[in-house]
Amino acid sequence: MATLTAPILDDISTEAARRLMEKQRRFFESRQTQDIEFRIKHLRALQDAIHAQEKTILEALYKDFRKSEFEGYVTEVGFVLDDLKHTLKHLRAWAKPERVGASLMVMPASAKVYSVPYGVSLIISPWNYPFQLLIAPFVGAIAAGNCAVLKPSELAPHTSAAIANLIKSVFPEEYASVVEGGVETNTRLLEQKWDYIFFTGGTEIGRIVAQAAAKNLTPTTLELGGKSPCFVDKHANLDVAARRIVWGKYLNAGQTCVAPDYLLLDKAIEQPFLEKMRATVREFYGENPEQSVDYPRIINDRHFSRLKSYLSDGDIFTGGETNAAERYIAPTILRNVDASANVMQDEIFGPILPVMTYSRLDEAIDFVNKRSKPLALYVFSENSDVQNTVLANTNSGGGCVNDTVTHLTVPGLPFGGVGDSGIGGYHGKHSFDTFSHKRGILSKPSMFDIKLRYAPYAGKLKWLRKIIG
Ligand code: NAD
Repeated sequence: MATLTAPILDDISTEAARRLMEKQRRFFESRQTQDIEFRIKHLRALQDAIHAQEKTILEALYKDFRKSEFEGYVTEVGFVLDDLKHTLKHLRAWAKPERVGASLMVMPASAKVYSVPYGVSLIISPWNYPFQLLIAPFVGAIAAGNCAVLKPSELAPHTSAAIANLIKSVFPEEYASVVEGGVETNTRLLEQKWDYIFFTGGTEIGRIVAQAAAKNLTPTTLELGGKSPCFVDKHANLDVAARRIVWGKYLNAGQTCVAPDYLLLDKAIEQPFLEKMRATVREFYGENPEQSVDYPRIINDRHFSRLKSYLSDGDIFTGGETNAAERYIAPTILRNVDASANVMQDEIFGPILPVMTYSRLDEAIDFVNKRSKPLALYVFSENSDVQNTVLANTNSGGGCVNDTVTHLTVPGLPFGGVGDSGIGGYHGKHSFDTFSHKRGILSKPSMFDIKLRYAPYAGKLKWLRKIIG
């Protein structure tokens, strides 16, 4: 596999970034995006363009890291099309002002929450699901009536170029526009005063984004990473658990923000469960996963070397093979890992699964709670007491019981982190809400004007006390 040389110029100037943002701001101020029909028309056009350009996008994903057509469709293109369909179906209802009860103190009155767009938003994405993680929030931004500048990841250059062409084919630059580039470009963009910033990426870069946003008090969503634990209790259905964990861990070669990062395995089932995991890896990817058309590669040499260094942090139970020229790392399970080893300190973000064992569930829960709050948490058990104990005594952005990763496919569930794994959430209506300012307006008729609140106050307090109760 040839090493990629990024065809991306990282050279937007501060002035060019400012001009683009100002251009979008003028367009936003023309109020065209306030019109729901205008938004729907563009979302439909985006849907049509994705259908028309699907092949190009899937090829770009393959060129960037050998993502198979199946994974490319299910986790990127198909995911976004599903989100678009859901948004188009419900947008008119979501955008309606929501009537809420007015307090007795202000009666008669009507009170409504209006969802109004923030204005010009900046959406920054990482490389691991380079299409989904840029376009899904973008759908929310457009649905809510915003303009948007999109900054794809420079580490997936083919997908970045495909996205730039896609957006250009549907949106005028003043409505939505892609700025390709890397850290320099992002730094120039972050110097501007945006109305909203939506960032997906690593926790450390999230801090840089939050600091830049704080200078202008710009509201942000931060979709970050971390180490997502996966509990496997002795009461789990071991066959199903093995399949669902192997699938969620080695999907995209482990380069998934919500992949199970490490196992917390009940010692009583350590050997039989790990054997099932090894057999499942073989069932999914064959005797030699390097030959499997379904198994992707590591995004670049830096991440390949980082991941390779973790292989000596424990005993290899299965996998461990690497091929630097191909940036291939076999689906690997590591056991006898020390909690202080790098593989247990860093977010792994690759196809290496360390196994920590426990004798008592509360030890495993303590282990999780002593670390940063994870983006996802998984618990495999057929015993509802175990499920409830784990959920009630831990916190995470989201997660699954008896599954991995799939919680993010449910549009009704907000997808996001907590603590070091992020701030805010999106998907489905949550995306619309994320990109909408909730403006509360009280409307009173002038016909009645009850004098209770006006001075002089003498004798009025007792009536107010009666109303408040
Ligand atoms: P990253 O944070 O390095 O990069 C994300 C974006 O920030 C890119 O567009 C990049 O150009 C830009 N960037 C990088 N360094 C920067 C800097 N110093 N200043 C300004 N901008 C900078 O993340 P990545 O390596 O592309 O992706 C992996 C990380 O993203 C992992 O930590 C993973 O968990 C996280 N992630 C989170 C989610 C989620 O939904 N919560 C999804 C996918 C990935």
